[in-house]
Amino acid sequence: MKHTRIYLYSFLVLLFSGCSHQLSQQQFYVFGTLVGVSIWGLPTQQANEAINVITKDLHLMHHQWHAWNPSPLTDLNQAIAAGQMGTLPDPVVLQKAKNFYTQSDGLFNPAIGQLINLWGFHQDDLSDNQALPSPEKIADLVALSPNMDDIDIEGNHISSHNRAVQLDFGAFAKGYAIDLAMNKLRQLGVQNAIINAGGNLKIIGQKGEAPWVIGIRHPSGTGILAAVAVSGEESVITSGNYERFREYQGVRYSHIIDPRNGMPAQGLTSVTVIARSGALADAASTALTIAGLKHWHRIARQMGIKYVMLVDEAGTVYVNPKMAERVQFPSDKKPRIIVSAPLN
Ligand code: AMP
Ligand code: MG
Repeated sequence: MKHTRIYLYSFLVLLFSGCSHQLSQQQFYVFGTLVGVSIWGLPTQQANEAINVITKDLHLMHHQWHAWNPSPLTDLNQAIAAGQMGTLPDPVVLQKAKNFYTQSDGLFNPAIGQLINLWGFHQDDLSDNQALPSPEKIADLVALSPNMDDIDIEGNHISSHNRAVQLDFGAFAKGYAIDLAMNKLRQLGVQNAIINAGGNLKIIGQKGEAPWVIGIRHPSGTGILAAVAVSGEESVITSGNYERFREYQGVRYSHIIDPRNGMPAQGLTSVTVIARSGALADAASTALTIAGLKHWHRIARQMGIKYVMLVDEAGTVYVNPKMAERVQFPSDKKPRIIVSAPLN
């Protein structure tokens, strides 16, 4: 009897500890989107403490890089507009932005904050039917050619030769933030996790014996376009014209602006990039949206990207061969798929 009780007790302890080591999940709102964090294989309390740490970190990053609410970035933008020197708590973010700018032939250009603002995207609520900017104003800003080469970084001191530069990190802030948050989780002993920032994800490890399986949102806004299994350390980032846009007289204007003509990018409804670095995948997904069907391949190669999936306005899907091997479509909703030449 005694033995049976001990056996039963040990069984319950095992069962309980097994449960508390499985999946811990939390959701919170930051970067203007719902962020979900899942951790596999740690005691619930340790996992929750780790999530609490990165929740604070992500809120801090969101504040530091906010492009229109008062923030260290808006302070720097004011200094640049006044022709003065400024600072940022983490100038590494600027060096990364400079590299991505160069690699993307300037299509990823976080110095065009004035253009983004001119199109009305520096506000939380985009629902009003606000008139479009005048072609003259757009042309004036394009002519000033604000770009990342205008910026000099010396230690913590940042300056710009060009006062028209206004920084907006919206195209890669979430990707970089999930890189930093994932590094922090690792430091806190986490080996298997997923951070999902509004459909932009980074994973490490796997979910028990199996890889994490990620759903890529359909650009129509409903349901899943495709699924992909990820493990090790990977980021899956999607840029879509359905995410943030304005509508004026029945026409949709995307929040992704082509720095060459100051106009919202057209042609692709969604671009997904998988890369180890979230910052790189995020910058690339934005750049490839602007590059369009004609130039995405070259820009992806320049940026060192290995996995790309693009969707055009007709719903046709374009993938490089390596991405084609990984991505799975629902059998009842298989789109037309075109496989490109290899990327490398
Ligand atoms: P994403 O959803 O990652 O493609 O980022 C879009 C956001 O990036 C926009 O809301 C703008 O804040 C910013 N943005 C728009 N166009 C560009 C561009 N050409 N280069 C860099 N950032 C941009
Ligand atoms: Mg992006």
